[in-house]
Amino acid sequence: MSEPPAAGRLMVVGGGPSGLAAAWKASVEADRAGASLEIVVLEADDQVGGKARTEHAADLLIETGPQGFLDDQPVLREMIDACGLKGEVLAPEPAANRRYIYRGGKLRELSRSPLAFARSGLLGPLGLARLAMEPLVRSRQDGNTEGVAGEDESLYDFAARRMGRQAARRRIAPVGVGIFAGAARKRSAAAAFPRLVAMERAYGSLFKAMRAGRRRGAPPPGHRTFLEGIQSLPRAVAALPGIEVRCNQRVTAIERRGKAFTVTSSAGDVGADAVVAAADLPAAADLVDGVSAAAAGELRQIESPPMAVVHTAFEAGAAAHIEPAYGFLVARGEGIRMLGCQYETATFRGRGPDGTFLARSLFGGSIDAEAADLGDVQLVDLTLRELRRTAGIDAEPTWTSVARWPHAIPQYAPGHPQRVARIEAALDPIAGFHLAGNALHGVGLSRAIAVGAECGESAARQLLN
Ligand SMILES: Cc1cc2nc3c(=O)[nH]c(=O)nc-3n(C[C@H](O)[C@H](O)[C@H](O)COP(=O)(O)OP(=O)(O)OC[C@H]3O[C@@H](n4cnc5c(N)ncnc54)[C@H](O)[C@@H]3O)c2cc1C
Repeated sequence: MSEPPAAGRLMVVGGGPSGLAAAWKASVEADRAGASLEIVVLEADDQVGGKARTEHAADLLIETGPQGFLDDQPVLREMIDACGLKGEVLAPEPAANRRYIYRGGKLRELSRSPLAFARSGLLGPLGLARLAMEPLVRSRQDGNTEGVAGEDESLYDFAARRMGRQAARRRIAPVGVGIFAGAARKRSAAAAFPRLVAMERAYGSLFKAMRAGRRRGAPPPGHRTFLEGIQSLPRAVAALPGIEVRCNQRVTAIERRGKAFTVTSSAGDVGADAVVAAADLPAAADLVDGVSAAAAGELRQIESPPMAVVHTAFEAGAAAHIEPAYGFLVARGEGIRMLGCQYETATFRGRGPDGTFLARSLFGGSIDAEAADLGDVQLVDLTLRELRRTAGIDAEPTWTSVARWPHAIPQYAPGHPQRVARIEAALDPIAGFHLAGNALHGVGLSRAIAVGAECGESAARQLLN
C-alpha cells in the first residue's frame, strides 16, 4: 500500500460530473493556497463522464444520459470557463421553447401565454377556474395544511393544494415524470422542486412569484449543452493539470484508519487523507458502509430504478408535419409506456445531418421499471408504435439505438429532506469524508456538479489548513 504524500492525498471515487467537479474544485483551492495536493479520481468504467455520455454513430450525436443541463449554478459556469469550454456552450434553438403534453389522445401545447394555455384543452373549464384562483390560496406557512402528509408534502399534494387536482394531474405530474421518471405522488415537493416551494414561501403564491420575477427581469435559468455533446465537460475536466484520473478501477471499500482512509479498488489499496465518494446509487451506499452503517442504511432506502433511452432517426420528410419543438411528455392513463420524447435535431443544432429527424424516447423509471427491461427489438418496436400514435411518425427509421441505465435517477420520496438530515448527521463527524453525487441534493447535472464542487472545496480546505 502506497503512503500519502506529505501535502495530502484526496481520493475521489467516481469520475462522473460530480466527482470530477470535486477534483477540479480541490485543485483550484490548492492553487489558491499555493500548495500541492495529490488529487486522484478512481473510475470504475473505461471512460469518464458517468451518465453524461455522448456517442457518435451514422453522423448522429447521441446523448445516452443527460441531453442538456440547467444553467443555474455559478460554480458550473466557473468550471466550464476553467476548462476552456465557454465557447462551446450551446443554447437550444428558439423553437425548443415549444413543449407538449400528450393527453386525451393528442399533443397539447404547454404555452406560457394564459390564453393559449386555456385554449390547449389540457385543462377543462373547472380546472382552469381553479388554477386561476392560485393567488388566493393560503400558503402553507399561513396555516393551510390541507393535503400535507407529515412533515413533507408530495409534489402532487403541493400542486393540488396550490393549483387544483386537475392541474396537478394533467400539468405537473407529467413534468415530474419527465424529470424524475417517477410518480408525483411519491416525490417530495421540497426535494424535487425546491424552487417552487421557495416561491410559495417567499410570495405566498406561485403566480405572484412568477410575476415578481418578470418584473425584476429575471429570466428562468436556461437549458444548455455543448457543441460536441454533454460528455465534452467531464472529458475536459479530466484533462486539466493537477488531476490524475485512473479508469477501470472499481472501488470496493473505503475504510477509516485513524484520521486517514484506505481505499480498496481492483488495483489494490491506496491510503488517502480525504475521500470524496461520488459514485452513483446503489454503489455509493456500499462505499459509505465502510465509514457509517447508519448513513449507508438510509442511502439504501433511496430507490434508483432503471431507464432505457431509445434513439430513432428518420428522414426529415417523415416528420415534416411536426412543428419544431423540444418534444413532449406523456400523461399517465393514455395507454402509452413512453415517458416522453425529445426532438433532438429540433432542440440543439449539430445533433444530426440536415434532412434527419432524431427522436430520443425515454422508458422506465419508478412509473414503469419493467419497460426498461424489455429487449432491444421490443423497445424499438414499442417506440415506433408509440411515435406513430403520439407524434404521427409513420416511417421506417434510418437508424436506432438503445441505451440502458440500471440505476438511472434517484427518487426523492416524501420525507427525503429528513432522510438527508439523518445522513448528514451520521457523516458530519467523520472528518475527511465527503459524499457527493446526486443522491441527496438534486438529481440534475448542475446540482450534482455544485454538490461535488462543494465537497472538493471543503476536502481541500481541511487538508490545506
Ligand atoms: C436517462 C437520463 C437522462 C437524464 N437527463 C438529464 C438532463 O437532461 N439534465 C440533467 O441535468 N440531468 C439529467 N440526468 C441526470 C444526470 O445524468 C445526473 O445528474 C448526473 O449524471 C449525476 O452525476 P454524478 O457524477 O453524480 O453521477 P454519475 O453520472 O452516475 O457518475 C457516477 C460515476 O461513478 C462511477 N462509479 C460507480 N461506482 C463506482 C465504484 N465502486 N468505483 C469507482 N467508480 C464508480 C460510475 O461509473 C460513474 O462514472 C439524466 C439521467 C439519466 C439516467
